[in-house]
Amino acid sequence: MTNPSTYVFTPPPVVSVPVVGSSARYAVHRVYCVGRNYEEHAKEMGFTGREPPFFFLKPADAVVVVDAGTTGTIPYPSLTKNFHHEIELVVAIGTGGKNILAADAHKHIYGYAVGLDMTRRDLQGEMKKAGRPWCIGKAVDHSAPIGPITPVAQAGDVNNAELYVQVGGVDRQRSNVSKLIWNVAETIEHLSTAWELMPGDLIYTGTPEGVAAVVTGDTMVGGVAGLGELHVKVV
Ligand code: MN
Repeated sequence: MTNPSTYVFTPPPVVSVPVVGSSARYAVHRVYCVGRNYEEHAKEMGFTGREPPFFFLKPADAVVVVDAGTTGTIPYPSLTKNFHHEIELVVAIGTGGKNILAADAHKHIYGYAVGLDMTRRDLQGEMKKAGRPWCIGKAVDHSAPIGPITPVAQAGDVNNAELYVQVGGVDRQRSNVSKLIWNVAETIEHLSTAWELMPGDLIYTGTPEGVAAVVTGDTMVGGVAGLGELHVKVV
């Protein structure tokens, strides 16, 4: 057992997300994200066809927890002039594993939440063009706002849920989780061949078409049917 008094500085706090109907919190381990997982979004990014799913990660401390009924804030990030919203269904893993079959994936899901994969699109685009990692576009501080996690039993039919995000009361993105190219179970199957999933892993499952820029002062209101709304202001 490591003696905490041997740390050279105070360790950062555990990032954790509230759980609907519980006083216990969900401790975050990793944040996985799926790229181009809705056909119309793949098209708007210049791609067509069903390619194998691919993944990137954000640091756990990029998560910005927004409690129910409140508006979270995120700072407009440095370096970018094109900061985009991506509304997404987030899967919260409760039981880890590797090489999980899609048919067994449900056994590994603790719950679901509404999330935003905030993206420095201009920097992501430059990295894509240069064949370099996306980190500077995607693994950005404060870039993973999330609402409370709803346990599976209370979440309803998430796989056929509408999802949307509005800015200033106007729809920016509106689609349905049923339009995922790789559904939640298939995503878990693929992801768990590459990494051993652990309790506390969040999976941002991808965004539908309509990604667009926000500026300082904008408030995004996003939702997934059955999982509540996520309000986030850019400051
Ligand atoms: Mn995304």
